[in-house]
Amino acid sequence: MSTIVDQYRITQEPYYRPVADEVELYEAAYSVRMPMMLKGPTGCGKTRFVEYMAYKLGKPLITVACNEDMTASDLVGRFLLSASGTEWQDGPLAIAARHGAICYLDEVVEARQDTTVVIHPLTDNRRVLPLEKKGELVHAHPDFQIVISYNPGYQSLMKDLKQSTKQRFGALDFTWPDPAVEAEIVAHEAGIDPALAARLVEIGARARNLKGHGLDEGVSTRMLIHAGRLMA
Ligand code: ADP
Repeated sequence: MSTIVDQYRITQEPYYRPVADEVELYEAAYSVRMPMMLKGPTGCGKTRFVEYMAYKLGKPLITVACNEDMTASDLVGRFLLSASGTEWQDGPLAIAARHGAICYLDEVVEARQDTTVVIHPLTDNRRVLPLEKKGELVHAHPDFQIVISYNPGYQSLMKDLKQSTKQRFGALDFTWPDPAVEAEIVAHEAGIDPALAARLVEIGARARNLKGHGLDEGVSTRMLIHAGRLMA
């Protein structure tokens, strides 16, 4: 039987090069459906990792890129006008909770704080999502898991996750891979030869040392891959 979440299944194995024991840690976290926070700078592989894990675990993945205009309704759902009146439409979080997907909220701090609190009841042992406007309490499907990404470097004091939100998540730290591993990733993703990738990675490492001296954020793996693709 096909369900609405089938479109979110990842059918081809994403290329992911593990950098430490993150795959095993994530599997352990998923086995108890622990909400997870992937911490680290932009472009270091968090999204690719969660895609790979969803594939490996055989679960659909619903990704939401959070932004400051996002409201709770964008996550939870809303009533829409239809020919016959109004009709409820589940938002991505409700779809994931109802049908058992992994819901990945990318850069969750970008969303307004009232948006982040709607995830709270899903992150403790209640595992429920109240659809207040509809008057329904969704009990999360056994396969449902919530994952957020978080870039600690970015946050100002004004805009950070509340402690009450942070403490609900198990955290996995992502940083730049070792040069040899990063070169392997860049060579694979950009389609360039390993020696060239190693040189790019070396330049990247030097530029990262300039962080805080005129550069807000170091060169990411993603940027090195872009450079490599242009070279190819
Ligand atoms: P983030 O979500 O942390 O901003 P991404 O997951 O989008 O970053 O990573 C950017 C790109 O870097 C990916 O599209 C992928 O090509 C590459 N990448 C980074 N780390 C890895 C890794 N460990 N294995 C495979 N590809 C990686």
